[in-house]
Amino acid sequence: LMQIYRPLNFIGFVYREIRQGLTDIEEMFKLLDQNPEIEDRAGAKDLEIAGPVIRFENVNFHYDADRPILKGIDFEVPAGKTVAVVGPSGAGKSTLSRLLYRFYDVTGGAITIDGQDLRDVTQASLRAAIGMVPQDTVLFNDTIAYNIRYGRPDADDEAVRQAAEMAQVGDFIASLPKGYETPVGERGLKLSGGEKQRVAIARTILKAPSILILDEATSALDTKTERDIQTALDRVAAGRTTLVIAHRLSTVINADEILVLRDGRIAERGRHAELLEKGGLYAQMWSRQREATEAEEHLRKATEDP
Ligand code: ATP
Repeated sequence: LMQIYRPLNFIGFVYREIRQGLTDIEEMFKLLDQNPEIEDRAGAKDLEIAGPVIRFENVNFHYDADRPILKGIDFEVPAGKTVAVVGPSGAGKSTLSRLLYRFYDVTGGAITIDGQDLRDVTQASLRAAIGMVPQDTVLFNDTIAYNIRYGRPDADDEAVRQAAEMAQVGDFIASLPKGYETPVGERGLKLSGGEKQRVAIARTILKAPSILILDEATSALDTKTERDIQTALDRVAAGRTTLVIAHRLSTVINADEILVLRDGRIAERGRHAELLEKGGLYAQMWSRQREATEAEEHLRKATEDP
């Protein structure tokens, strides 16, 4: 019986490995979110970075022709500065970051980096210049070290460790029995949203891109985690030209410009204090957010006190 069992067992093993391999590939495509319709133009050149200055010039965009998503979006992110985008759900905030990464091409207007239209440069050079910290990072089924090193495959262990420290995830990794060799992802240790995001930040610190796209998590975080993530984000954004889809007050307060997006248009723009003073949509958003935070605090106190 063993003679039959062993090969069957082996086939089962191979089958599981192959299936897992396919899952990994699927995850990778999800991670890269490739759109096969985007191709390099014949004779496309590599992007040359000077500033880098990002410009959205009267950008229009739709996924489906009968439903415009972005309408006449015009703004600049000066070299090394941070522009934060806020606005109601579905306003088109994430779409802006997808266009900058060229998952899609604009349907009107243009996006340029240091004067070069994204459609004229190679995708490889564009994506090498951009670091993306998404809301929900998909981790590979491999070790934590592998997942961080993915940002720069030739980085040595010390560089990986330093990046993790900078991203405020070093202590957490050190507390795990297998440390950096801990398997994570679907098959390994499940990390919390905040931990995953810090792994993504460590990866981006290693990659050291000159342009950064941050998509902050909307999920509520406890005060310490929120502070740790903010520290990590401030470090990775320092000196980089940054576009951030912002959900946290701490991020927008420090932004060089805030764009309030509504129904695909820039409804208000300015710095935090200016926008508060204006008493418009932005001011409303923050007073509502403050009420929600206060209500949460209240509830927490009420459940704590006997
Ligand atoms: P949220 O804060 O909820 O993440 P958002 O402002 O980032 O929202 P987007 O994700 O940019 O909004 O989406 C803007 C609009 O585009 C939404 O109405 C959404 O339904 C639509 N949309 C997003 N992705 C696609 C897609 N792949 N195909 C068709 N429509 C899409």
